[in-house]
Amino acid sequence: MEAITHVPQASTSPTAEALANGKHSKSASRKRVSVLGATGSVGRSTLDLIGRNPDMFEVVALTGNSNVDALAEQAVRHGARLAVVGDDRQYAALKARLAGTGVEAGAGVAALAEAAMRPADCVVAGIIGAAGLRPTLAAVSQGRRVALANKECLVMAGRMFMQAVRDAGTELVPVDSEHSAAFQAMAGSDPATIERIVLTASGGPFRTWSMEQLAHATPEEALCHPNWSMGRKITIDSATLMNKGLELIEAYHLFPIEPSRLDVVVHPQSIVHALVEFCDGSMLAQMANPDMRTPIALSLAWPARMAAPTKRLNLVELGQLSFEPPDESRFQALGLARQVMQRGGMAPAVLSAANEVAVEAFLTRRISFLQIAQLVAETLAMAEGRNLLAEADDLAAVLAVDGAARGLALNLLDRWSVAAAP
Ligand code: NAD
Ligand code: MG
Repeated sequence: MEAITHVPQASTSPTAEALANGKHSKSASRKRVSVLGATGSVGRSTLDLIGRNPDMFEVVALTGNSNVDALAEQAVRHGARLAVVGDDRQYAALKARLAGTGVEAGAGVAALAEAAMRPADCVVAGIIGAAGLRPTLAAVSQGRRVALANKECLVMAGRMFMQAVRDAGTELVPVDSEHSAAFQAMAGSDPATIERIVLTASGGPFRTWSMEQLAHATPEEALCHPNWSMGRKITIDSATLMNKGLELIEAYHLFPIEPSRLDVVVHPQSIVHALVEFCDGSMLAQMANPDMRTPIALSLAWPARMAAPTKRLNLVELGQLSFEPPDESRFQALGLARQVMQRGGMAPAVLSAANEVAVEAFLTRRISFLQIAQLVAETLAMAEGRNLLAEADDLAAVLAVDGAARGLALNLLDRWSVAAAP
């Protein structure tokens, strides 16, 4: 199978064959899978599919951050060989929970990377945020095939990450629904024939809100996504449209296309996940009900397909699908992401780090909804002034920029609190 550094070609990809068969092919031996971020939304959906197909998969390693009980329960239920928590203060608790089960316990950043490097046929990268970069890169470095949900990897270090994929001669299969859709729509095509990739965005819970309403939007309102059930950070990113901005940068690294050929269209029903436009005027779309188990199933089974227990689409029941342009004056995060994509270097890493700080500050009510994009914009301006935006070539340099950008964003937050104090 082709690495995703190139659009899968008809001559080299078994996709067409797999699609023509119309069924998943049952291999004699089970696929060994590790799930990074197993206790999260993507992780739980992955294990739901694995649990329904014990003849197809065996679990090697599972990781979480601090929820020892949930991780231990998953590890025992799925017969994992290793369970790792990111928070090393939880090691004793995890070890105690796993005593006598035969599941090995580990904790801390190095153990996360070790879990990612264990021999496996597929590593699902489902950790949220910058914390996912090191372990996902560790999996890639060992030539593991990665089902990539953690978009922040590509936003922070896209060039380096894709180079590592090429160097290891391994494969990346996108889990993000839009990228999975584009991946499927372009399978077997000559990259030179692709004119445009269009990612759809639901528009989030505030699609129709005025600036006045947005200024007072609460975390509870922002966490009520109309179509998708996801982790907290990505749900807030969906409300600001930062998620779509991060996805543009993700697509830019995954697919061989210039930024000017990447578009976003708002599609409130979240049925069409992406469209690929070709030089003959054809546009191919992938459609499915909004359930992450569809793209996760593809990433696990690729280049074959496997069954996913999702609600099937009924187009007649749906009746209509609608599309509208995104409003970048109300949702400034999208424009910021476009600017950093053009700027390149570490600008996307700074955007992503500042956004993580801003989302946390919004969730803990330190800043308002509209201040999320403002904090990101001001952090970018400060980082530019401190020459932090040049390309970084290795993991240590990327993580240093990430840390510096978080420091700048936290300083700004402190200054804002002082300024707002009575
Ligand atoms: P989540 O918050 O539900 O889960 C995150 C997982 O990462 C948890 O297992 C958590 O324990 C772990 N984690 C968090 N901080 C960690 C740390 N410091 N060290 C180690 N582990 C840590 O997140 P999610 O919604 O499942 O999203 C995961 C990734 O997938 C994100 O990058 C997101 O953008 C992407 N994604 C998610 C969805 C979705 O439907 N949830 C859709 C598309 C893409
Ligand atoms: Mg997405």
